[in-house]
Amino acid sequence: MPELPEVETIRLGLQKYLVGHRIVNVQVRAPKLFQGNPEDVIGAKVKDIRRVGKGLIIDLDNGFSMAIHIKLTGQLIYRGDETKNVQVSKEKVGQVPSNATHVIFTLDKKAVLYYNDRRRFGWIKVLATDQVGNLPFFREMGPEPPVAKEMEGKALTLEKFKEILTKSNTAVKPLIMDQKKIGGIGNIYANDALFMAGIDPRRKANTLTAKEMEALYKAILFVMEKSFKYGGASELNFVNALGQEGEYQNHALVYGKEGEKCPKDQTVIKKFFLGGRGTYMCSYHQK
Ligand SMILES: [Zn+2]
Repeated sequence: MPELPEVETIRLGLQKYLVGHRIVNVQVRAPKLFQGNPEDVIGAKVKDIRRVGKGLIIDLDNGFSMAIHIKLTGQLIYRGDETKNVQVSKEKVGQVPSNATHVIFTLDKKAVLYYNDRRRFGWIKVLATDQVGNLPFFREMGPEPPVAKEMEGKALTLEKFKEILTKSNTAVKPLIMDQKKIGGIGNIYANDALFMAGIDPRRKANTLTAKEMEALYKAILFVMEKSFKYGGASELNFVNALGQEGEYQNHALVYGKEGEKCPKDQTVIKKFFLGGRGTYMCSYHQK
């Protein structure tokens, strides 16, 4: 599932290309994914793009906003004059529009924004801008690692991180992925950060020492910043706002590396399920 670096990558692209455009028409092909009245966005100009954790907010100049969660396979793809020579990913996107295109925003200056979603778990909600913060998804979001420069949510400080871990006796990996506790960390970065910090994902969070908590905090920031530099991870269907894939999956530390050798100590990486999610670890240096 797209995590903070992926959604921030989309946000930056939309900030660059979508802001300033007027929405001329909205075609909703899958009503389940689009909640609210299309008339509330037609005619409005895109003012700003914000992000809270894995959620995006498109602010319009008429007092309305669109809150968007792309969930597993959502894609927001901008096509305009200035991007006509940009090739969209053949594998992850193919043609736009396609049978995975569920909402089409026709924009001024001959541009279009497509919302694609193969698995159809994502959502777009139209609501008054001052009501966005009341959506449970945004209201309940925990503080997020301060990776991206611009963020709407609260920043996760080392002190706050230690407080969250110290108060919990659940396994550390599902805890750091709990969006109500910490926003934006998903399976890829949780696996890689625990590997980097040398911590067993099954350890009860409140058994980590102050030194281990600090190492894990730094590792989370490190892997997310690294991913952000690689344009995110295109594990499922993630592409940026131009339809291009990210490359973090080619630079992951332990995620997806079952059966391969740990680069630190040559121990074979094993995979098991923890909290229902694929978990990868080196049983030698992760304690
Ligand atoms: Zn190892």
